[in-house]
Amino acid sequence: MARYTDAVCKLCRREGQKLFLKGDRCVGPKCAVERRNFPPGDHGRKAAMRRKVSDYGMQLREKQKARRMYGVLERQFRRYFEEATRRKGLTGETLLSLLESRLDNVVYRLGFADSRAQARQLVRHGHFSVNGHKTDIPSFLVNSGDVVQVQNASRSNTYFKDRLQLLEGANPPAWLRLDVANLSGNVMGTPNREEIAVPLREQLIVEYYSR
Ligand code: SF4
Repeated sequence: MARYTDAVCKLCRREGQKLFLKGDRCVGPKCAVERRNFPPGDHGRKAAMRRKVSDYGMQLREKQKARRMYGVLERQFRRYFEEATRRKGLTGETLLSLLESRLDNVVYRLGFADSRAQARQLVRHGHFSVNGHKTDIPSFLVNSGDVVQVQNASRSNTYFKDRLQLLEGANPPAWLRLDVANLSGNVMGTPNREEIAVPLREQLIVEYYSR
């Protein structure tokens, strides 16, 4: 499956804000946005000074930001948008709800990983099950009532043993319930906009695709 493999800090610098793609490093002094808050490339600093962004530019940047935060490539992101337009409710909010429901995001939100990229790798390596069935597809969409759990075979893994302590202090959103003792999480419902803590203006994304 195709995925972005270049340096991820460039993505934050391009968007001019932290997208929290690297776990602990993102909250420390080594964060590239803290040190070089201008777009990457030879002319990045000059471009930042000249920057006057059109409506289209703002819509494009918001869409790119969302894609990059959730680690989704263009074609798949457009599919999520098309699915959101087919469903009832506000398209922008439904789009975010779909992105939040991805298994890799759920693993990240529950606190089993420091970033969505790490969560994606854990899922790809087969460490999780959904409703008792091994599921190694990061884009798998969870539904209300689903149970996401660390596979029995992975529990003795050093990573998950070390993770236990961090999970005690985890604070997942209200639509997820973490069970530390069972290394599992229950999906209590569909996330609504207030429960999706991402700095995105989803209306701009809708406008981008509605041009
Ligand atoms: Fe973005 Fe994190 Fe890199 Fe900072 S450290 S630029 S927040 S990925």
